Amino acid sequence: MRDVVIIGSGPAGLTAAIYAARANLSPLLIEGWQSGGQLTTTTEVENYPGFTKGIMGPDLMKEMRKQAERFGTEFLTGEVTEVTLARRPFTLTIDAKQTLQAKTLIIATGASAIQIGLKNEARLTGHGVSTCATCDGFFFKGKELIVGGGGDSAMEEATFLTKFASKVTVVHRRDKLRASKILQDRAMKNEKIAFLWNSAIEDILGTDLVTGVSVKNLVTGKVSEVPCAGVFVAIGHRPNTALFAGQISMDEKGYIRTEKGTTTSIPGVFAAGDVQDSTYRQAVTAAGSGCMAAIDVERFLESPTHSL
Ligand code: NAP
Repeated sequence: MRDVVIIGSGPAGLTAAIYAARANLSPLLIEGWQSGGQLTTTTEVENYPGFTKGIMGPDLMKEMRKQAERFGTEFLTGEVTEVTLARRPFTLTIDAKQTLQAKTLIIATGASAIQIGLKNEARLTGHGVSTCATCDGFFFKGKELIVGGGGDSAMEEATFLTKFASKVTVVHRRDKLRASKILQDRAMKNEKIAFLWNSAIEDILGTDLVTGVSVKNLVTGKVSEVPCAGVFVAIGHRPNTALFAGQISMDEKGYIRTEKGTTTSIPGVFAAGDVQDSTYRQAVTAAGSGCMAAIDVERFLESPTHSL
């Protein structure tokens, strides 16, 4: 029986762990097989306060993990395969074999990259199709690449990929980018980046490896083939909440609903970070809500209504 179990090892989960550990709650943090969350698949993080020269995403996560460990957080590597939130204590099953109980739970399972849903997308993933430039960019030295999307992720991926690629073409469905001004400007000024506006990737071409994409101009309806060696999809994220479906209140996109800080529809269950935030979705806001969740847990455990 644990006072608090935290699911997720991104900035939200690790910050919750730092605060809960310092409050003597001896937290157990369950980290998935890919510890560290989305920041482990990014390059330089320039907007996390305290790092004037920026810091590499994976390094930031390593530091956060060490800090949580320093105050006594216990880590368990594995996938939570089942949760029962209907009664307290809550029950969690890890990797379909190990079961544990928790008086309170902090859900910080984050979000994952969305795929476009094209016929050949899944088949060619790992063979030229990717959602992570930092992971796969290196394989495309001197090649031409496509990036799909018009947000911050797409601009960041496109800019990063120019370190390796000879040319990166951004395919965006509108004539305006959604990305922040600074990332837009950086991409626009980069001579290796071209834009195909009002366009949608209709299909990814290639038998064993990607050889190109077919792109439809959404204004004229004209379809053309653009040769490329890789396609990086950067069209947004989906919250990782399938595990909790039907047990906790979520919005129409599957984000966990929170109110008054990190309180969810179930007393004793708190949610922090991207899993409950479809608006800000920044490392610093995730970390901030992780801190709030730990404080909310502390207050919950101390409250007279808490009956365990
Ligand atoms: P996002 O802001 O939701 O942008 C998604 C982009 O993909 C949009 O341009 C959207 O087009 C396009 N798109 C969505 N569905 C599509 C589809 N089915 N087909 C084609 N295009 C599609 O997602 P994001 O770029 O991953 O960013 C997520 C959050 O993380 C944001 O809050 C962002 O600020 C943050 N972030 C910040 C940084 C940073 O500060 N350095 C870096 C990365 C991400 P429309 O524009 O037409 O909707």
